[in-house]
Amino acid sequence: LTRPAALELGTHFAREFPEMAVPWQAQEFPDARLLVLNEPLAAELGWDATARRAGGDDPAGPGLLVGAGLPDTAEPVAQVYAGHQFGAYSPRLGDGRALLLGEILDASGRPRDIHLKGSGPTPFARGGDGLAAVGPMLREYVVSEAMHALGIPTTRALAVTATGQDVYRDSVLPGAVLTRIASSHLRVGTFQYAAATGDDDLVRRLVAHALDRHHPDRTAADNPSLALLDAVIDAQASLIARWMLVGFVHGVMNTDNMTISGETIDYGPCAFMDAFDPASVYSSIDSQGRYAFGRQPLIAEWNLARFAETLLPTLDADEDRAIELAQAALGRFRGAYNAAWFGGMLRKLGIPTSTDDAVTTPLLTDLIGLLQVSRVDYTGFFRRLSDAARGDAAPARAMFADPEPFDLWAQRWLDLGPDAEAMDAVNPLYIPRNHLVEEALDAATDGDLAPFDRLVDAVTSPYVERAGFDRYAEPAPEAFGPYRTFCGT
Ligand code: AMP
Ligand code: MG
Ligand code: MG
Repeated sequence: LTRPAALELGTHFAREFPEMAVPWQAQEFPDARLLVLNEPLAAELGWDATARRAGGDDPAGPGLLVGAGLPDTAEPVAQVYAGHQFGAYSPRLGDGRALLLGEILDASGRPRDIHLKGSGPTPFARGGDGLAAVGPMLREYVVSEAMHALGIPTTRALAVTATGQDVYRDSVLPGAVLTRIASSHLRVGTFQYAAATGDDDLVRRLVAHALDRHHPDRTAADNPSLALLDAVIDAQASLIARWMLVGFVHGVMNTDNMTISGETIDYGPCAFMDAFDPASVYSSIDSQGRYAFGRQPLIAEWNLARFAETLLPTLDADEDRAIELAQAALGRFRGAYNAAWFGGMLRKLGIPTSTDDAVTTPLLTDLIGLLQVSRVDYTGFFRRLSDAARGDAAPARAMFADPEPFDLWAQRWLDLGPDAEAMDAVNPLYIPRNHLVEEALDAATDGDLAPFDRLVDAVTSPYVERAGFDRYAEPAPEAFGPYRTFCGT
């Protein structure tokens, strides 16, 4: 990756919010070695990645990708935020092992944050080591890039660099830094921290900053806080619907892990569901199932209520009126979510969204029931269903222990004339299957990146069938057993 002659790292957040940003440097990693670089994303940022590919090992090392050799004008900071973690409020979380290097304008003029994760302890580390292991950083890389390829708003992964240093977890693991790109790192928790200071002006400035960054068309709104609340509700309703449509379980929907931009952030204990089950939970610490697959819309709504609370003093000088405005805005979440999910499901089924609700509503409800009863592989089902639209129902039928209810359902659906090609354009064939992610991360931890590179290749072209990629379209074998994921590794 060559640095453009005049790389400027913007200091907007650092300068505008000194009370929420601690100037900090990345730890030095003299033996850092690049493991994976996202060349299409580098190009999107206006950086030339071809030079590095042609030139082999860069004598200057991964530099910027691990926060070294920054321009003198850069002001890297650790950002502070608060947040509800599993429902319990923590007044001061913040970037314990992360840094905002600065903002850049990408090749299309869009502002993007350049952020590091695993770059050493900050004043917010709270006893943590500030580090990250190769496996979990590669996991964020492959899952976030899969999400992007599926058209789902997400933070992006620019690179993963091995630090050359050990990280101590249950075992000794190789360390790594993830270079993350995001529309911003403003979170619900950012506003919770600001609101808790009691300084309404700070909240107002954050609102203006967020609108300027994400909704420049709304900066002149009569009520900026209401404009932002509406925008965040819309963005999150659409985002969560997209998660639900692809079977994604975020796993740790704490308010500090919900963005203002509407991008998915913080790929820790996340997983794609194989067998359809709303109760699916993978996170080892989520024993109550708070963040189970089927609860994600409710949790999003709860988090948005926490966001709305932070805005109350700025929504209206009259408290009752402010509460009314917030409740009216929050009241729109369910409708927005349902519309996004319903439309997305009809597209997955290849039937026009204009089809009569009286027909489509029971059709969808019945399908969800069938998938759940037979614990059908969610992703695989929709691709087999397009075969059924082409006249071969056998592969889909074979996914049900008792095929008769499916036959009855399929006839109702076929009567609507589903479009098989349209289905294949929205239903992925290749997703980051849990067993393949684990296999790739284990190999990478042992120094072999080939399975990881191949997995990234598969999931970043998710819709078009390719020879040699069959195993990326299959659920985990029985022997893989129940899947468990872990936070903060
Ligand atoms: P998460 O559950 O990933 O959203 O992280 C919650 C909080 O823990 C954030 O404030 C992180 O910065 C912090 N954190 C997680 N892992 C570490 C670590 N190894 N060292 C320091 N802070 C950490
Ligand atoms: Mg987090
Ligand atoms: Mg995390």
